[in-house]
Amino acid sequence: MTETTPPKLDPIKPGSTIGVIGGGQLGRMTAVAAAELGYRVHVFTPEVDGPAEQVCHAATIAAYDDQDAIEAFGRSVDVVTFEFENVPAETVRHLSDLAPVRPSWECLAICQDRIREKSFCNDLGIETAPWKDVASAEELTAAIQVIGAPAVLKTTRLGYDGKGQVRIRPETNPSDAWAELGGGPAILEGFVDFRMEVSVITARRPNGAMASFDVVENRHKDGILDVTIAPADISPELAAKARTIGQKMAEAMDLVGLLAVELFVTKDDHLLVNEMAPRPHNSGHWSQDGCKTSQFEQFVRAVCDLPLGAPERHSDAVMLNLLGMDATLWETQLSNPENKLHLYGKAEPRAGRKMGHINRLYVKGAQPKGWT
Ligand code: AMP
Repeated sequence: MTETTPPKLDPIKPGSTIGVIGGGQLGRMTAVAAAELGYRVHVFTPEVDGPAEQVCHAATIAAYDDQDAIEAFGRSVDVVTFEFENVPAETVRHLSDLAPVRPSWECLAICQDRIREKSFCNDLGIETAPWKDVASAEELTAAIQVIGAPAVLKTTRLGYDGKGQVRIRPETNPSDAWAELGGGPAILEGFVDFRMEVSVITARRPNGAMASFDVVENRHKDGILDVTIAPADISPELAAKARTIGQKMAEAMDLVGLLAVELFVTKDDHLLVNEMAPRPHNSGHWSQDGCKTSQFEQFVRAVCDLPLGAPERHSDAVMLNLLGMDATLWETQLSNPENKLHLYGKAEPRAGRKMGHINRLYVKGAQPKGWT
């Protein structure tokens, strides 16, 4: 067998165009960070006047399955990345013939499907809640026998912010729960009586160099992230374990870019992976103001194969998400000079819609307890 060394690709130099698939707030904040490093961003989004389009150099407004538009986009950019991972993997595979795609379509395919995601973790020896795949009401009945109740039934694809989930209680009728989910495929996951939810974001370059942000605590309301507290109030040993998990996962899928991993901390201090996202993450927004390098700058550096920046936190921080009408209170929010307000330029403040966030910094070591 002859060994071949993959050709060394040159970095994507400042002045180049980064193609970003998805046009939401993550794309917007990535485009701003990219501009600071001298790049142009071209977004591909089905939405007219979305948050990213408002601040980028160019935009293609087309459906994700519009092959001609995807092809023209791929030919017009120097590298492709994502702020939204639920793009058909086939489309992304096709794009890989036209430009470097980071992270790869293989990484996306793992993160798009809860069965692949959980299997990927378990194959690496990383713990998750106990789970079983289910494809019908009968299989759900059988899975409840194995996993027990309480449990959570989740669609394998396109679930986010608590959507596509049905809670299974001991008294729940499996057929009703299956009907409520609206069909499969799905997984049944044991309910975790967690002490805390945390997340860790890892950046990885094509040469394998990695940098992790501090592990943070995430508090959800109605399945949507409400507050992030940086750092999480966990032992240094547990934080180190979480960082190792993130790095092991990024390495195992040869990911280039960012990998956000959400974990449950159990009452006996075990870490169970809940889910992951191969892109900047809502729980990393605090890094814009609390770290030497923000997650968005680090994302651009990793995708363009530039040296990674220092990820250290210079301050403790709390991030509050602004949902729906919260964002109309900007005057009140700005009247506290400590509030760092970030708004996404969304016109319609629909209930539960992420409109912006506020970061508030604290002296390092102050260990904030929440949003006050
Ligand atoms: P997900 O979309 O899977 O991140 O779920 C959204 C939120 O629902 C999580 O952040 C948790 O607060 C809660 N949740 C999801 N799965 C479980 C579980 N197996 N046990 C307990 N809570 C869960």
